[in-house]
This record gives sequence, C-alpha cells and structure tokens, in this order.
Amino acid sequence: MATVQEGLLSSTVKDKTAPPRNKITIVGVGQVGMACTVSILQQNLADEVALVDILEDKLRGEMLDLQHASLFLKTPKIVADKDYSVTANSRIVVVTGGVRQQEGESRLNLVQRNVNVFKFIIPQVVKYSPDATLLVVSNPVDIMTYVTWKLSGLPQNRIIGSGTNLDSARFRYLMAQKLNLHPSSCHGYVLGEHGDSSVAVWSGVNVAGVALQSLNPAIGTDKDPENWKEVHKQVVDSAYEVIKLKGYTNWAIGMSVADLCESITKNLGRVHPVSTMVKGYYGIENEVFLSLPCVLNGNGLVEVVKQKLTDDEIAQLKKSADTLWGVQADLKDL
Ligand code: NAD
Repeated sequence: MATVQEGLLSSTVKDKTAPPRNKITIVGVGQVGMACTVSILQQNLADEVALVDILEDKLRGEMLDLQHASLFLKTPKIVADKDYSVTANSRIVVVTGGVRQQEGESRLNLVQRNVNVFKFIIPQVVKYSPDATLLVVSNPVDIMTYVTWKLSGLPQNRIIGSGTNLDSARFRYLMAQKLNLHPSSCHGYVLGEHGDSSVAVWSGVNVAGVALQSLNPAIGTDKDPENWKEVHKQVVDSAYEVIKLKGYTNWAIGMSVADLCESITKNLGRVHPVSTMVKGYYGIENEVFLSLPCVLNGNGLVEVVKQKLTDDEIAQLKKSADTLWGVQADLKDL
C-alpha cells in the first residue's frame, strides 16, 4: 500500500531537495548568538540556519524552540549540532562563541580566553564552509577578527568584524533623541576600535546633508556649548551601562548583525562601519583590524570608503591601532 506521502504527492523530479543558497550559521547560542539568530529569522535572510555550541542541551533546546516557530517563519530548515558538519555550505558564519565581559570588565581583557576558543572554532568552520564570509562578533571584536583572519587563511574580503556598526547605531539613536528625529535621518559614523577608544567623526555628522559642524563649529570639542561630546561618551559607556543593568547586551547587537547579513545575502552594496584590515590606511603601519566605512555585498567586504578625517581623528585611530597591535603581539601561537 502507498504511504500517505506517496498517495498525496506525485514527484516531478527525482531529487526533491535543493541545496541551500543562503545558509547562515551562528556559532555560540548564548545571549548574543540567539539575538542574532532570531533577528536573522525574522528578516527572512536565510533558507537554512545552523547553530553550533559546546553546550549540547542548551543547543538542542534552542533548536527545538525555534523549530516550533516554523509556522511563523520563512526559513524552512533549522538545524543544530556540536559537530561542525551541520554548518556545511554556509554562505555566512556569525561567530559569537566564547566569554563575555563581566560588570566593569573591559573588552580587551577577554582576549586570550577567546583566542583559545577561536583556535577550535575557526578551522572547523572553514573546513565545512570554505566559501563562507565570516562575521565576527565575539569581543574584543577587532582583535578576534584579526585572529580569525590569521586562523582561517581566508581572503580579507571574507573576514568582517561587526566593529563599530553597533556603536554607530547607538550614536545615531542618541543624536536622533537630541534632535527629535528618526535615527535613519541622522547620519554619522563612529570608527576605530569597538570599545573604549572609538572615534566619532564630527565633521561628517549631518541631517539631510546639512553638516552639524557648519551650525556649531565647536561640535564634539570641549568648547562646545551644547556638549555633543556627551553623545559619544554615552556610546562608549553604553555596553557598560546595559551590562550593569541586565548582565549582558544582546538585542541591538543581534539586529545590527542581521542588518550586516542582509547586505551580503541580498548583494546590496550598502556602506557599514565594520572592522577590516587597516594597514596602509591613514598611515597605519601594522596588521590591525579597525572599523572604517566599508561596502558590503555578495562578495563580502569589497571596498573601503576614503573618508576625509581631521589630523586629530587620524591621531586617535593610530593610537587605537597601536594599542591593538600591542595586545596582538602578546597572543600565543597564532
Ligand atoms: P554568552 O556567555 O551568553 O554565550 C557565549 C556562548 O559561547 C555560550 O553558549 C558558550 O557555550 C559558547 N561557547 C563557548 N565556547 C565555545 C566553543 N568552543 N564553541 C562554540 N561555542 C562556544 O555570551 P554572549 O552574551 O552571547 O556574548 C558572546 C560574545 O559576544 C562575547 O564575547 C561578548 O563580549 C560579545 N559581544 C560582542 C558585541 C559586539 O558589538 N561585537 C556586543 C555584545 C557582545
């Protein structure tokens, strides 16, 4: 007797299952990994999502919980395993595995612990998805992006750090609050290190092409009567404040990572401030990763926008580059 499936469906082709075209893997199903996953699912960016972690029960629990939402999603396949074969043929791999900051702890303090974690993760990822673009989120993100580049052997265009994409989003939100506008109409970039030494590019801050510096020449300086510098200070303090209040940050980073994935999966060619190898830019001489405005499309990170920075901004970028290079020099066995 025919099975229900055979009685119901008549096949027109022998091979009914198509390979994934936009498979996205998320490594690490902690707070950040799951916020990234849910944002990616809700934006319909992937036809397959794969999750990996070392915590088997948590991993399976998260997978089942998401699979039970399949009726409300347009990602037909959600899989999870601690074995990286589950990630095979990913277009993008988002890496969030490792440890996070404790209250009051700086991002740079996490470095050697997360390097050890990445030494296990990255070779596995590359083995199963040699054509993927790797999007690094774990902190300290600029150094972990460098580590990923070294461990993966992949070309620079396929190694992206989430960098100051989140810092810039926070900046635009706070600017919008100050001007009573929507953040999408408030333009500005926070560049450099994702963290304590990030650089706000005040010369470029504008609404509808009107440079705020043309209205307030002292903007961002200590002499500014409106104290716009406080906006950047709040950006730098954001993660510390949220971690103090709820223990971790996740929603904003999750949504900002999905936004980066969208530029890649939909081949958009949008400009995002993300972490890339900056040797040769603005007189930086070492192999460090910092955020500059970069074009993301289906080939990954394909171009860097040559933004005109002031001498002071360049000096700040170089200082961050030196700090990161100093930390990288102490990393063991890369
Ligand atoms: P979390 O502790 O909630 O989750 C981390 C997960 O990584 C855990 O589930 C853990 O089991 C997993 N993990 C550990 N070792 C692993 C391995 N070898 N392979 C696979 N998975 C492994 O932490 P979180 O809050 O999700 O934060 C994750 C990372 O993201 C941290 O480094 C944090 O600092 C960073 N972060 C970055 C940004 C950013 O803007 N770049 C923002 C927020 C958090």
